[in-house]
Amino acid sequence: MTIRDTITMKPRYFLTILLFVSHSCWCTNREYRGYKGGIWTVMNILVMNCGSSSLKFQLIDAETESVKAKGLCERIGIDGSRIVYRPANKEKVIEEAPMPTHAAAINIALKYLTDEIHGVISDLSEIDAVGHRVAQGAEKFSKAVLIDDAVIKAIDENSELAPLHNPANLTGIQVCRALMPDVPMAAVFDTAFHQTMPQKAYLYGIPFHYYTDYKVRRYGFHGTSHSYVSKRTAQILGKAPEELKTIVCHLGNGSSVCAVKGGKSVDTSMGFTPISGLVMGTRCGDVDPEIIEYIAEKEGITTHDVMDILNRKSGIYGLTDGIVDFRDLRAGAASGDEQCMRALEIFNYHVTTRIGAYAAAMNGVDAIAFTAGIGENAPTIRKAVCENLTYLGIELDDAKNDANEPDSVITTPESKVKVLIVPTNEELMIARETAEVVME
Ligand code: ADP
Repeated sequence: MTIRDTITMKPRYFLTILLFVSHSCWCTNREYRGYKGGIWTVMNILVMNCGSSSLKFQLIDAETESVKAKGLCERIGIDGSRIVYRPANKEKVIEEAPMPTHAAAINIALKYLTDEIHGVISDLSEIDAVGHRVAQGAEKFSKAVLIDDAVIKAIDENSELAPLHNPANLTGIQVCRALMPDVPMAAVFDTAFHQTMPQKAYLYGIPFHYYTDYKVRRYGFHGTSHSYVSKRTAQILGKAPEELKTIVCHLGNGSSVCAVKGGKSVDTSMGFTPISGLVMGTRCGDVDPEIIEYIAEKEGITTHDVMDILNRKSGIYGLTDGIVDFRDLRAGAASGDEQCMRALEIFNYHVTTRIGAYAAAMNGVDAIAFTAGIGENAPTIRKAVCENLTYLGIELDDAKNDANEPDSVITTPESKVKVLIVPTNEELMIARETAEVVME
């Protein structure tokens, strides 16, 4: 469902509620510029993705689903912070500006959005809703929610499960609430889409009370992307999501594979944290837990240090001389560099075997979608991953695979399983879910 569907379908229902619930609903206190004759004609949704030292933002026109402006604030709290701001149909701006805090960064972002020369709106009252990306929603949140004090408390409580991400997400929420107190805001969780996984997929083989007492289980991440891409795959194939068994391969700096059956996530490769599953840019993916203590003893370091190495110095980086970017890895492999060839082979092998596992989990697969930086742009990786999947009935069309066309099917018409390139759009998905939550 597009944002437009949401904003044009629900107003009738919305109006009915308005008639009965006058003061208890935030919207009764709020005048919307675009709400005319029972139809929303304009709705600007600000999407905020607040990381530990960065802020990505997009202002999306809900009616056309176009991006009015987007930007990235980098090195927040560190020397050399800067904003890269791209308004639609205007010059890109890069400004080095001090951003000691997230509040400073958000203020600069909002200043650009409303700036006389570079801006795309005249003032903050033109922002109708804000959607915040939140990393960890745990079992509390199986879908996006309207943010209130109770939601903020729950996000804060989940911080112990995502200490690098949730506190930064929460800062973004609090700063935006202070600056735009009357604007409804939604929290959209990376984990929510995976809350449909069955217990057999999300429980680990460890003492059960670690789950009940400490919430240790597989949560999975990239949920917004897996949700968007699986729906888009169904749309491209002219099917309803309920009809399909899809495997989504989100291959970027962080990578994960997800099994989506009938539109619902039934398994995914990331786990309790985003370190597990596939070999990634700097993360190790699945390793034998015994390795941690073994290496700590051998190297005379703490297990905490080893965890840091597994997060930041492992994966492709660890297998090569510090390569993180897959373009460099592919170039190295193409020029015959043995380390690069080996690392790439390991990466591809893990994606292939994960696809095999999820085909087994779903007792079949209809479609495999490649997405994110690597998935969308690396034909040789897609080809290598699919090479050992011919037993599933996959017949790749090399010309289509090489063409790298977004939203395209890259298998032959005879191929039993369709393989697709589907660019992810997490910001649009956040905007859609925000519109839905706000209109509920
Ligand atoms: P994230 O959002 O997780 O930071 P992206 O989805 O933007 O990551 O993916 C970034 C990765 O995609 C990088 O490793 C980059 O090298 C890789 N990438 C981008 N273009 C290509 C390409 N043409 N070939 C291989 N890898 C690519």
